Amino acid sequence: MKIFKFGGASVKSAEGVRNLQSIINTEKDNLVVVISAMGKTTNALEAVTNSFFSQKPDLMRNVQIVKDFHEQIVSELFNDRTLIDTLLDELYKKLHDIVCQKPTKNYDYEYDRIVSFGELISTTIVAAFLNVEPTATKTCKFVDIRTCLKTDENFREGNVNIDLSEKLCHTIFTFEDTNCYLTQGFIAGTLTNQTTTLGREGSDYTAAILANLLNADSLTIWKDVPGVMNADPKRYDEVVIIPRMNYKEAIELSYCGASVIHPKTVKPLQNKKIPLHVRSFIEPEKQGSIINEFQERVQMPPIYINKNNQVLLTLRPRDFSFIAEERLSHIFSILAGYKLKVSLIQMSAISFSLCIDYNKIHFNALISDLKDEYEVLYNTDVELITIRHYTQEIVDKLVGEKVVFVEQRNRNTIRFVVPTN
Ligand code: ASP
Ligand code: MG
Repeated sequence: MKIFKFGGASVKSAEGVRNLQSIINTEKDNLVVVISAMGKTTNALEAVTNSFFSQKPDLMRNVQIVKDFHEQIVSELFNDRTLIDTLLDELYKKLHDIVCQKPTKNYDYEYDRIVSFGELISTTIVAAFLNVEPTATKTCKFVDIRTCLKTDENFREGNVNIDLSEKLCHTIFTFEDTNCYLTQGFIAGTLTNQTTTLGREGSDYTAAILANLLNADSLTIWKDVPGVMNADPKRYDEVVIIPRMNYKEAIELSYCGASVIHPKTVKPLQNKKIPLHVRSFIEPEKQGSIINEFQERVQMPPIYINKNNQVLLTLRPRDFSFIAEERLSHIFSILAGYKLKVSLIQMSAISFSLCIDYNKIHFNALISDLKDEYEVLYNTDVELITIRHYTQEIVDKLVGEKVVFVEQRNRNTIRFVVPTN
């Protein structure tokens, strides 16, 4: 059995949905197909959430944007709209019922119950298309993943209850009456059936968890790039595909900010030695990249990863005390309170620097919390550049005369915090 994951870019149009159909039609094995929200729907639903939470007048207009976008796709996909219209009306009614009430005080809870509609709508459309249109050669059974992928109530970053989810998934994905299931990435449910999400771009993670729980033979992530590249082609010339890499390389890359794989994706696969294929839905005949455990050493080209939108914070205890263990745990507990991800740390006796993702909503509150005990200096608008398998020549060429705020290097990897261009 294989897992296929299709991201938002692959289903952003009617043509994309047809292309997905032709990819899965050629697959002979049993399949679980995991799909994200279409195109930029998650961003559009974040706008709905924000208008709803702050009760802004543009709320209904933002809801309409989401509906109009999907209407365009549906109108190009279906000749007979009876079924799809009934299914979508049900979903839109549920969304309306939510946004017409008063919001609770829990932003993350409201976020999850609204933003999850992106995946619910996309899978509803794709399942209806695969199952009823006359071109269908493979039918896929629709699964609401919230019934079997269970998390705690940590909204927006749900922690999966592995044991329970494993049991439930085995009762649902039995392959007794179908050879293909279709379900949502990114979203999950709590024990009391509240909707949660697994963090932005979390559909890869869903697919990896399902691969692990169901002991899949492989996971394929279908993307708009030909595979894992050694740099972002939009920023660097002479970019190459990396055809093979180890899990360890992949987890390091995703942690450093390579957006091709979500950082949480690798572990569930590595734990069961399930190969991960990254392939292009535009050129599905090509092999793409494979991430697996290789016995032999795999030769790697230099790999460049730019992580944008970072803030460099430097903290000094006001009383001139050392940055010791209690200090660190205090700082990290403040960051965890805001669900901020740390991408680099560096410390000296009385100062501690760290790079975090810039989060406009929480930034001022974070700084004021930290200022209680620390003198705080910060640079917004910085980026973190990582080069794996570097040579000095590469470093000189790339960083050369640039201002560098922080530099860290070991044998394999060099990292710089520099001002954004
Ligand atoms: N739709 C979600 C997002 O855009 C999840 C995903 O695409 O993986 O973040
Ligand atoms: Mg996406």
